[in-house]
Amino acid sequence: MRRIDRIEPFRVMQLLERAKLLEAEGRKIIHMEIGEPDFPTPSAVIEAARDHLKFGDNFYTPSTGNPELQQALGAWYKQEYGVDVSAERILVTPGTSGAFSLIYAALLDAGESVLLSDPGYPCQRNFIRLNGAEPINIPVGPGTRYHLSAELIEQYWQPHSRAAVVINPSNPTGTLIDDQAMQAVARACRDRGGYLVSDEIYHGLTYGTKARCALEFDDRAIVVNGFSKRWAMTGWRIGWVIVPEALINACRRVMQNIFIAAPTLSQHAAITALGVDDAVARMQSAYDERRRYLLDALPQLGFDIVVEPQGAFYIYANVSRLADDSRTFCWNLLEQAGVAITPGEDFGAFRSAEHVRFSYATGLEDIRQGVQRIREFLQG
Ligand code: PLP
Repeated sequence: MRRIDRIEPFRVMQLLERAKLLEAEGRKIIHMEIGEPDFPTPSAVIEAARDHLKFGDNFYTPSTGNPELQQALGAWYKQEYGVDVSAERILVTPGTSGAFSLIYAALLDAGESVLLSDPGYPCQRNFIRLNGAEPINIPVGPGTRYHLSAELIEQYWQPHSRAAVVINPSNPTGTLIDDQAMQAVARACRDRGGYLVSDEIYHGLTYGTKARCALEFDDRAIVVNGFSKRWAMTGWRIGWVIVPEALINACRRVMQNIFIAAPTLSQHAAITALGVDDAVARMQSAYDERRRYLLDALPQLGFDIVVEPQGAFYIYANVSRLADDSRTFCWNLLEQAGVAITPGEDFGAFRSAEHVRFSYATGLEDIRQGVQRIREFLQG
């Protein structure tokens, strides 16, 4: 099979297309399938971009990033997590997705592998396959809060494995990994000469608990993050990755060739974003209100939420008491009730037919209406 034939589509896009068609026919659809903030980018960030367009240059920045942004990110790590990260280890990328393209191109060769959790963020396995390597999808459940553990790494690590990925808080489950588990996972990777890759894109969107950065546990961890979620900047395509010194040169060569550099305007706006706290806090508290509403409402409808999600904007719920197959359930819910949620199959194969993901990156009024519609749908 050719490499490209192993790249899976994002299945929820089919559902989204159908939802758009129904909307074009005049139906109101409640969107709880999309993992994109419903808030606009904070106004201070937009102002900074506007000023930059008027007065600043828009030439390429150095491949590894605008040095001012790299410095600002270094200072932000000190302030946010108390860790020292030198600016040259921080590589600015076109979105977190760009960071994944970069590190897997720098790390992987044909025949190597990367350990992932199943369920997990679906693009990961495709980035790995695109670089000729293999994802090893490891079934995870409530016992490890849907995260990898040192024991699982020991069990699944192969002689040619290069890394294990932790998404913290997780997409699709919204759960945080325990500090001790994170430390043990980092050690298990290091002991095998591999890397822990920590996807921290939902940091800042946690409720009641602060997520810890993997660098607090292991200075060799590869940390990926971006502006899309916490700062509501999906369309700006801007993120970053912190790599150990040994990988900087390889990453720089990849950056020079495949991206040249991240978008100059977005890099400039990102410097301002790092200082925006009030708008971020407001979004976070709105998400938390929605989360609490759903955590109360969904179990009453018959959905089981086994581990309470503390972060991101997702709830991963078991539908076994309501349906035999989550895919059919989601399609029927869309057609009959006009509510879009994501079937578990988008996030892996392990017990996926039993699960769905609710996204609460949509207004509370719509969420309430969605719950009411699901109630009526279930009453038949
Ligand atoms: N990582 C996770 C876990 C995500 O959920 C997403 C987007 O949904 C991304 C990475 C990609 O984000 P971006 O490329 O916009 O930075």
